[in-house]
Amino acid sequence: MRTIGLIGGMSWESSAEYYRLINQQVRDRLGPLRSAQLLMHSVDFGPVEQAQHAGRWDDAAAILVDAARRLEAGGAECVVLCTNTMHKVAEQIQAAISIPFLHIAEPAAQAALAINAHTVGLLGTAFTMEQDFLKQRLIAQGLTVLVPEEAERKDVHRIIYDELCVGVISDQSRQIYQRVIESLTARGAQAIILGCTEIGLLIKPEHSAVPLLDTTELHAQSAVAFALGD
Ligand code: GLU
Repeated sequence: MRTIGLIGGMSWESSAEYYRLINQQVRDRLGPLRSAQLLMHSVDFGPVEQAQHAGRWDDAAAILVDAARRLEAGGAECVVLCTNTMHKVAEQIQAAISIPFLHIAEPAAQAALAINAHTVGLLGTAFTMEQDFLKQRLIAQGLTVLVPEEAERKDVHRIIYDELCVGVISDQSRQIYQRVIESLTARGAQAIILGCTEIGLLIKPEHSAVPLLDTTELHAQSAVAFALGD
């Protein structure tokens, strides 16, 4: 089994999900007492979040490059960055290490294509919904990507930082997300990419009429596939 390297802490609420999902999948595949070989370097989200909102992406990149190098030095054989938003600096991280960087958009795109969903809705932080770094990866795989309208994007973004990243799960926010999903579906989305690693804590398959593609689950699966040499 190969050793997985996780960069976590953004937020730790979702990093804990990665840890659980990766270990569950290894157990399901290899047997009851089997578990993943992995390292996690979990950063302090505070300075990263401040850099994001101030547009100081190079400062945030420096923190994550340092984390990736530490993982490689510690024996990790791949790097998994447990946040969609910070894939904005994916190239800088990949360039700093000599082990593979497993990009979060690849398994999401493959999952959409596997269910013939060529038009997808994308939920995530404002950075992820409004900038190109993740959308372009999806478009490059042949997908059409719809994002919520401006007022909806504000709500989606606010709920991520003010609630989901601090462990608050509320029915009221779930209803807001459900309405956003409904309007994306009405505009033609055949599936919804949960493009923020905390959204799966709030929205489950039963909350949506169309399939949900949860990047946390799919990214964890691709880490396990790498570890087990699929
Ligand atoms: N975990 C989130 C994501 O997947 C948001 C936190 C962050 O900004 O990194 O985008």
